[in-house]
Amino acid sequence: MPILENRFEENVVFSTVDEMINWCRLSSIWPMTFGLACCAIEMMAVGAGQYDLDRFGAGAFRATPRQSDLMIVAGTVTYKMAIRIKRLYEQMPEPKFVMALGVCASAGGPYYEHGYHVLKGVDKIIPVDIYVPGCPPRPEALFDGLLKLQEKIRHQKVLRRLTPQEKSVIDETTRKYELETQKLAPLPKEYQA
Ligand code: SF4
Repeated sequence: MPILENRFEENVVFSTVDEMINWCRLSSIWPMTFGLACCAIEMMAVGAGQYDLDRFGAGAFRATPRQSDLMIVAGTVTYKMAIRIKRLYEQMPEPKFVMALGVCASAGGPYYEHGYHVLKGVDKIIPVDIYVPGCPPRPEALFDGLLKLQEKIRHQKVLRRLTPQEKSVIDETTRKYELETQKLAPLPKEYQA
């Protein structure tokens, strides 16, 4: 960085540990290589050279949930796929984030009324951090969602102990996800852990 190098005295940076951790997290988001339907084509376009996702530190798509911290749910979530999505989400290490890309993943989209086979929003089974509207959303909309997610991560409290109220809200929400998941058809035996 020539504009910074060799121009200052010895120096110190003052910040909080939370800010440092958040800065590291938001600057190195690794999305999972994973798509469900038409919206996934837009996500693939974002990963191509024209849009240069690496500018935001998020260009390293990983082919395994165990090395990913962002799940972009790109496409229609059928009941058949829902339980597999949940499985992939559970295999991701903490901290992990979810983006619902397009109206199908956010709320069922064009299948909302008559799609008997479609989950009406992936947030029924896993927590969603960012919703990106559109059918399909343009790559720029995905970028906008990513920037908003980074802003959200920037303001997270990492080290502070949770209050009992905050803990009970998390427990209640987790219970809600589990109840919804139980309504889905179980995975075939050969795929169960
Ligand atoms: S939101 Fe539209 S483009 Fe995206 S998966 Fe659904 S139908 Fe396809």
